[in-house]
Amino acid sequence: MSEQRYDAVIIGAGPAGIFAAIELIRSKPDMRILVLERGKPIDRRSCPARQTSCVGCPTCAIMTGWGGAGAFSDGKLTLSTEVGGWLGDYIGTDGLERLIEDSDQLWLEFGATTSVHAPEPEVAERLMREATLAEMRLVPMRIRHIGSDRSPAVLQAMYDYLVSVGVEVRTGTMATRIVAEEDRVTAVELGDGSTVRTDLVIAAPGRDGADWLAEQARALGIGLVSNAVDIGVRVEVPAPVMEPLTEHLYEAKLIQMSHRFGDQVRTFCMNPYGAVTTESYGDIVTVNGHSYAEQRTANTNFAVLVSQRFTEPFHEPITYGTSIARLANLLGEGILVQRLGDLRAGRRSTAKRIAESVVTPTMPSATPGDLSFVLPYRHLVDILGFLDAMDTLAPGVAADGTLLYGIEVKFYSSRLELDPTLQTHIRGLYAVGDGAGVTRGLVQSGASGLVAARAALGTERVSPE
Ligand SMILES: Cc1cc2nc3c(=O)[nH]c(=O)nc-3n(C[C@H](O)[C@H](O)[C@H](O)COP(=O)(O)OP(=O)(O)OC[C@H]3O[C@@H](n4cnc5c(N)ncnc54)[C@H](O)[C@@H]3O)c2cc1C
Repeated sequence: MSEQRYDAVIIGAGPAGIFAAIELIRSKPDMRILVLERGKPIDRRSCPARQTSCVGCPTCAIMTGWGGAGAFSDGKLTLSTEVGGWLGDYIGTDGLERLIEDSDQLWLEFGATTSVHAPEPEVAERLMREATLAEMRLVPMRIRHIGSDRSPAVLQAMYDYLVSVGVEVRTGTMATRIVAEEDRVTAVELGDGSTVRTDLVIAAPGRDGADWLAEQARALGIGLVSNAVDIGVRVEVPAPVMEPLTEHLYEAKLIQMSHRFGDQVRTFCMNPYGAVTTESYGDIVTVNGHSYAEQRTANTNFAVLVSQRFTEPFHEPITYGTSIARLANLLGEGILVQRLGDLRAGRRSTAKRIAESVVTPTMPSATPGDLSFVLPYRHLVDILGFLDAMDTLAPGVAADGTLLYGIEVKFYSSRLELDPTLQTHIRGLYAVGDGAGVTRGLVQSGASGLVAARAALGTERVSPE
């Protein structure tokens, strides 16, 4: 097979890889750049689960393809250093603030909505005080909401731009091996058996490619550290119940250290007037939520997640999370749903009880059941305590009719050992985005691509605080 040479090879076309490509080509227009993406072009990504349940496609159209996991995401750009990843650990909080601005500007340039949701300062202060009294912490955030229905057009515009300025994009092409000689990257082997030669690789394979990247890291002698796993439920309530918070905050980011176990419990991905959806990880189905810019339901949903970081000798947080999700799938033949009142009363929910409830599920395919057969005691106690505390801020959240869908799991890839420019000890090999365990959101993943590209170009010196 022939060998081609490129000035840079980017593995993965999610926000991290795309933003790295934009930064490289804008700084050096004559650079030969190849972007490899194992999934499909964005207009050919289609998930059969939107009509039925997950059918386990060989490459998941939700997680892979041009635009990455972000393509059909809710498109919520959280403009805060406190969410979306751990990039600040590498570049410092000030550096991260600047990069969030840069990342946001790129989303805007390619068509993201211009309006930003942000609380009035006096309202934020009042809500933060109320949260403190409920023994919680409220993080006020600025959010730009693209919306799942608009986000593909934004990502398509990025594709059109990159191709128009001469970046080569190969979709349906998997990077199979990163090759290094004498601690310097030299080539990438591809799924079709060919090899491309280069001395700059930016690996941005997302959560979908995290295991592959970990394998490459082990083969190249790059250290890995386990990240946390977040396990919980998606909560669905009538939208007016959450209005005391969502009216002002759009997304209420509440954090509590649980009384009984001292675990971090938090809200995640709040969807006012949204719908509960599924997400698949290989052969398991988990819960998620969406809201659409143009369509509204009568409900608001959000996740309550318990964060767990395991200590020696256990190194498999992802297997732990998948095992719990698999158990929920086994009992519910997919997603389970239970009324909070039934969970408290120690009985399963039935179709009749759900039908009689105040909240009409936006995911009617979920199976009424009993989450206490699935969630560990520790997680159940943490979640129930959290909902009770939240009820003082938004009365009705802990009502009997509140629906809990299980299981929601957030896996974070193992963190690669990286320097403050996100370069590994292999010269010319950078690892960015969710796949490297550096980020977990659209804005920070894009920002991490900028960090690596600028470092590779020598256009910005990034140093830790
Ligand atoms: C359903 C859902 C909803 C979300 N909603 C939001 C939200 O509202 N706001 C937010 O901030 N974040 C959200 N996120 C998270 C966000 O999408 C991710 O944080 C972000 O996409 C990570 O970007 P990335 O570039 O690191 O990786 P990804 O976007 O995952 O992209 C990585 C790409 O690399 C490709 N790839 C993997 N391995 C290889 C290989 N070996 N060779 C070639 N290509 C490869 C994959 O196919 C994939 O397309 C959501 C995620 C999901 C799944």
